[in-house]
Amino acid sequence: MSTAAAAVEMHASRWGDPARAGALPESARGLVEAVFGIDERPAATDVTVPAPALAAEVLDALRAAVGADHVLLDDATRRLRTRGKSTPDLLRQRAGDLSDAPDVVVRPADHDQVAAVLAVAVEHRVAVVPFGGGTSVTGGLAARREGYAGVVSLDLVRMKRLLAVDHTSMTATLEPGLRGPEAEALLAAEGLVLGHYPQSFEHATIGGFAATRSSGQSSAGYGRFDALVVGLRVATPRGELRLGSAPASAAGPDLRQLLLGSEGAFGVITEVTVRVRRLPAEKVYEGWAWPSFAEGAAAMRTLAQAGLLPTVLRLSDEHETAINLARPDAIGAEGASGCLMVVGHEGEPDPVAARRAAVASVLTGLGGTPLGEEPGRAWAHGRFDAPYLRDAMLDVGVLVETLETATFWSRVPQLYDAVRSALVEALGEPVLVLCHISHVYETGCSLYFTVAASGGDDALGRWQRAKAAASDAIAATGATITHHHAVGTDHKPWLPAEVGELGVSVLRAVKAELDPTGVLNPGVLV
Ligand SMILES: Cc1cc2nc3c(=O)[nH]c(=O)nc-3n(C[C@H](O)[C@H](O)[C@H](O)COP(=O)(O)OP(=O)(O)OC[C@H]3O[C@@H](n4cnc5c(N)ncnc54)[C@H](O)[C@@H]3O)c2cc1C
Repeated sequence: MSTAAAAVEMHASRWGDPARAGALPESARGLVEAVFGIDERPAATDVTVPAPALAAEVLDALRAAVGADHVLLDDATRRLRTRGKSTPDLLRQRAGDLSDAPDVVVRPADHDQVAAVLAVAVEHRVAVVPFGGGTSVTGGLAARREGYAGVVSLDLVRMKRLLAVDHTSMTATLEPGLRGPEAEALLAAEGLVLGHYPQSFEHATIGGFAATRSSGQSSAGYGRFDALVVGLRVATPRGELRLGSAPASAAGPDLRQLLLGSEGAFGVITEVTVRVRRLPAEKVYEGWAWPSFAEGAAAMRTLAQAGLLPTVLRLSDEHETAINLARPDAIGAEGASGCLMVVGHEGEPDPVAARRAAVASVLTGLGGTPLGEEPGRAWAHGRFDAPYLRDAMLDVGVLVETLETATFWSRVPQLYDAVRSALVEALGEPVLVLCHISHVYETGCSLYFTVAASGGDDALGRWQRAKAAASDAIAATGATITHHHAVGTDHKPWLPAEVGELGVSVLRAVKAELDPTGVLNPGVLV
């Protein structure tokens, strides 16, 4: 039907559009210096990409599958397809470690070409890493190389079509390589919106959202990505799966759910049919102040359980609120007071006005103080900018990373304390641990932590130890190891604690059936 134009390539060792990369703003530099000190850490410039290892016969077969112009061996392209954008990924890139670089980047144009690449991979025992936007933060793009003739990065960048729109059923079928803004632009031309806005929205893709069970900043209103998916087309080494022939079905377990979150280990998602909504005529975001995180969280729970969720609902804890408001006296201070909540409503004017009034009445009754639209507008304006700041912090030797989890409401305080304590203990002072709630359900919510600490000479090792301690704490409280970042390679050690050894065996059995020679993303997920 319609297709999106090529998008900007991300920086190899930083987040996002290279044109937007910048030094630490002067306003933040003073704060950083006061808390951590400045320790300039420029990225290595003598970076060597390992020579491609694939035999000529394999490369010829790949050229026959997708066309010679779409089999790329140059260093720059392979470097840009090396790992994802977690802080460990960035630290390795900055140190010049490209040991996980793929041997070749292959760009299929459609489902049949994806299937043809998989056939070549099976025949020659080559590992295949599906590559969407490259924004994985859990090691989902660092496939195991041992035991394989080489590694192919299967870049879905040419698969950017809006294939079908059903205005009656309110569904749209999209190709996997569409980035967030590209998909929304194609849908907007039809008067529609998907409403999926993760912080990585500008670079992550439709296929990646499905493969990782992503959740966006407007999940309260539009739903997480897996809730938006009604159909999938998947290429596997055993053939094609087409799933989702009705809005609901009792025809056995829902196989779509088996493929959502499968992280390229079971198949390559080549089409995604999603539920869509009409473009909202009105969007309004506002701020609310709460005396404490606990009181703000209780208000979120009340809204969720009353069926009164706005489109956006986020609550920063005392530490994150202090940092966002840049109050140097409050940074990290025990007992720093006050928490900021952002509440957003999108839709037609009348329902927006009605829901806004109903939500405001509940929040006021529970002790919230309205702050007007300015804090909401400020949040909306900067909602995709924070990752650029992470690079600027790494430049001056400050380790910054995030992690996320979810649990039931009754266990939120225990989870919050356990993760916070684990991070503070592992990293030692000075450390900042900030937290917010941004995805809420009737039964519970996710907690999203941002951590900043001095990196020193072993920033990677320091973070790995801290992340392991936090992950142990998460598992000990019975929470999930990931609410929306997926398993990848990084969270794999904690998967058995969550689903049991039998659960892991079930996943292995599915993989063995769909990918008997194990060429798909080896080492990722299972
Ligand atoms: C700064 C930053 C902010 C982020 N914010 C959020 C957030 O708010 N919410 C959230 O949910 N996540 C967030 N993430 C994580 C990440 O953006 C998501 O996991 C996203 O869904 C990945 O999409 P992608 O297209 O970049 O996939 P990639 O990173 O390219 O791939 C992710 C995994 O899926 C597999 N894969 C990709 N495409 C396909 C396909 N078509 N078929 C089969 N397998 C495939 C890959 O092999 C890999 O294992 C953030 C990441 C960063 C770096």
